[in-house]
Order: sequence, then C-alpha cells, then structure tokens
Amino acid sequence: MSDQANTRRRTVPVKVGGVEIGGNAPIVVQSMTNTDTADVEGTVAQAAALARAGSEIVRITVDRPEAAKAVPHIRDGLDKLGVAAPLVGDFHYIGHKLLTDHPACAEALAKYRINPGNVGFREKKDTQFSTMIETALEYDRPVRIGVNWGSLDQELATRMMDENAKLPHPKDAAEITQEALVVSAIENAKRAEELGMSRDKIILSCKVSDVQSLISVYRKLADRGDYALHLGLTEAGMGSKGIVASTAALSVLLQEGIGDTIRISLTPEPGGDRTREVIVAQEILQTMGFRSFVPLVTACPGCGRTTSTVFQSLAERIQGYVRDKMPEWRDRYLGVESMNLAVMGCIVNGPGESKHADIGISLPGTGEEPAAPVFVDGKKTVTLRGADIADQFQVIVDDYVENRYEKR
Ligand code: SF4
Repeated sequence: MSDQANTRRRTVPVKVGGVEIGGNAPIVVQSMTNTDTADVEGTVAQAAALARAGSEIVRITVDRPEAAKAVPHIRDGLDKLGVAAPLVGDFHYIGHKLLTDHPACAEALAKYRINPGNVGFREKKDTQFSTMIETALEYDRPVRIGVNWGSLDQELATRMMDENAKLPHPKDAAEITQEALVVSAIENAKRAEELGMSRDKIILSCKVSDVQSLISVYRKLADRGDYALHLGLTEAGMGSKGIVASTAALSVLLQEGIGDTIRISLTPEPGGDRTREVIVAQEILQTMGFRSFVPLVTACPGCGRTTSTVFQSLAERIQGYVRDKMPEWRDRYLGVESMNLAVMGCIVNGPGESKHADIGISLPGTGEEPAAPVFVDGKKTVTLRGADIADQFQVIVDDYVENRYEKR
C-alpha cells in the first residue's frame, strides 16, 4: 500500500453513474472529447476510444442546442457498443437553457459541469445557477462546480481585489486571485447546498495552468471542506511539456492525499491520438503506486553499449502488446494489471533489473554473446537466441499470464 493511501484526505463520496468519486474509492481517471458534440458518430467513436483506453468517465462539451440534441443519441451509441462510461456535460453561458430545453440531454448525462465564472452575470447569475442546480436535483444528478482561472468570476475577483486594496498591507494580486478561485468554488457549493443539493452530489475543481499555483490553490481548497475534488492542470500544453507539467503538479498533490479524480489536459498534436491523456493519467497513478491499470515495461535508456535499436523495439513492442491484450486479460485474469516487465539493453544492469521484474529479458549489448537470458520471478529460466527473440519473449509473457494469474 502506498503512503498516499494512508494520508488520502477524506472527502464525501459522489456517485457519477456507476462510478464513485471520493471517499475510499480509487482515484478515478477521466478525459474529455474534442469532437463537435453535434457530430454523434464522431463523438461516439472518440468517447468509446477514450473509455476503452481506460477513461472511467468521459466529458463532452454541450455548447449549443444541436449539441444538446445529440447527447441522448451519443449515450445510445455508446450503450450499443457496450461502453458504460458515464457521460458528463460541460456547460458554459447557456447551460441553464440547454438543460431545461432538452430534457433528454439532462437525462442522458450522469453529471453536469457548471462554471461559476460564466453561468451568468449580475442579477441573472443566481437565477441561472439555481436553474442548473434545480435541474440536477430533478434528475438526481451530481454536479461539478468547476472554476477556472481563465474564466474566473470577475465580479467576485474585482470585489476581493478592492477589499484587498483597502487593507493596510495589501496582499499580492496573485494571492488574491488564488483565494478568489477557492472562494468562488466554496461559495457556489454552499449556494447549491442552500438550494437543496447534498454534499454527496457536489464535486469541486479550481483549475489553473501554472504548476505552483495549482498546488497552492488545491491545498487551500482541500483545507476548506470535505467536497470530493477533481484535479487537473488546465491547458497543460503539448507533448512532453504538458505531460511533465501535469505530472509535476498532480504528483505533489496526490502524494498529499489531495484529489479524487484526475484529468490530464494535453493538447494533442495535429491528428494525434486523444487517448494519450488517458494513458498519461493512468501512468501517473500507476507509477506512484496508487492504482494499477496495465502491466508496465521497465526499460533502460540505452547507451554506448547498445549499438542497435533491438531492445528499444522490443520494449515498445511488448508495452504495446500488453496494452492491446489488457481488455481481454482483465476479463479473464485477476491482478494481471500489476505485472511488471523489464526489457534491458545489456549485461551491466540487465540481469539485476530483470530479476526485480515478474518477467525480464536482458538483451545482448555491443560485443556480448548474441544471447538474451530471461528471468521469471527472479530466476533465470531460459536464454533466447536467434532473429525471433521478440516472438519468443511474447510467448513467455502469454504463458506467464496464463499460469500465474487466477482465472475469474
Ligand atoms: S543496461 Fe546496459 S545498455 Fe542499458 S543503459 Fe545500462 S549500460 Fe547501457
């Protein structure tokens, strides 16, 4: 058990469809589509791909009547494919109208995301926020009150800045912005409770795109109540920058027991695979020891002792293979997701690292005999030779899974 399991902040559990967030539930992985929600076929395909990659909840934007009309058809399409992941509707500006004008949309969604910064302005704000909460109560759906510093409630921020300016020793503007994010989330959660919503129907988030600010904001948020928390660095960015920034921020907070569900907001490369954000979320949780999703491959980085790409190709092939096999293995074998594999480039660390894995292979480095010893449960079992080492190793992995893990 990880240290985090002992220090996890106790929050009120919230049911989103069949998925529990908070309380003692494992940290939930979620994602968001980037298709036009009015495109039913495209959104079903992407939501299904995200769910199959391991997204336990999928959020879709509901930005206009055409999107709201499409939502029940998207739910039907996913059900027909056997994809049960709950759908969350992301609403801005006109959520109150879309939810009341399209009851089938309100019914098909398992949760509504409300952004207090753009739910309405001045006197309309409370009416429109109340309408969304009342709709959630009518359909017995939870909500996420999701604050974002890109759309922070400007009336609240201005009021807090003015109050700060009158202090004898005003605080830094950045500090007031952070405080405003937290106050916006908590005040709106309290308002939802006044309207009759119980705490087991409320999830909060306060997303920013700066790592240190996110850590600071979520520490404050966690100290102000026991609401379940949705955690994510917003607009994390592309490629390694997005992954590194998200991991840096989330790992600090998760280690402190903060966060009940996570989403990694990566910008895909043009034509890139949206499921990357799901894999990154899973890998953060798995490498930190909080959850296991899919067997991970430990591989050395390679160095001057490896002159070919054989071991890189094998590591990539095996990681892809176990990920592809996982849906089938998960249904058949208990605990297979925690299997560890090692693919190493030479004799220096190869045998040692391989012995720490459930199955490890140490490939020959430059000048070494062209032979690859395989270690199973810490013991050398066979030495592979020839051009089809990858095929032979794959058979060993299959045999191990078949014989090592209890069948369901
Ligand atoms: S195990 Fe061998 S090939 Fe891999 S990094 Fe270490 S010395 Fe280099």
